[in-house]
Amino acid sequence: MPKKKLCVDFDDTIVESIFLKRVNRFLKTNYTAEDFKNYYIDDIIPIDKRQEFFDTFCDTNPYLEVEFLPNVREVLERLSKTYDIYICSGCVMNNMPSASAEIFKYKYDFLIKNFSFLSPRKFIFTNSKEVLCGDIIIDDYLDNLSGDFKEKYLFTSYHNKDFTLEKLSALGVRRVNSWKEIEKILLKNK
Ligand SMILES: [Mg+2]
Repeated sequence: MPKKKLCVDFDDTIVESIFLKRVNRFLKTNYTAEDFKNYYIDDIIPIDKRQEFFDTFCDTNPYLEVEFLPNVREVLERLSKTYDIYICSGCVMNNMPSASAEIFKYKYDFLIKNFSFLSPRKFIFTNSKEVLCGDIIIDDYLDNLSGDFKEKYLFTSYHNKDFTLEKLSALGVRRVNSWKEIEKILLKNK
């Protein structure tokens, strides 16, 4: 029996947002993720300063200072024994597509370094996740759960906390709050 295909998002699902620390440094602020409801944290930067922000954003690798979400590495490793795991992640920054090329490399390098049990041939870098299909998908961004999957999980994050169960269940989506919860659901009979 082939392994089930499990697609897992990267930013805000495996690691925290790369924008929070950078935005705080740039604006000299102390925002936390809880201060944002908008998915695009960098939208808080005034439009006349965005060019300056993104001009230097990729000069250093933002993934060198990013934190893993709790338990993600060990749970993904356990899941990889049972599931065929694909990491599916957008790399084109919403506010600055032309400055996004380095993000593909930074993210790829991060995955290679930290997830040696995953196949780099199964890293999919696209912002158009509606084209994806498989058995299970986990993502923090609701619009990214529109592909053809039997099970869809919304990973709780600062920008999706207010979505009601009714709204999610109408879309066939179930909320998960942690990697421990994902482990319980996906490995319950294993
Ligand atoms: Mg994400």
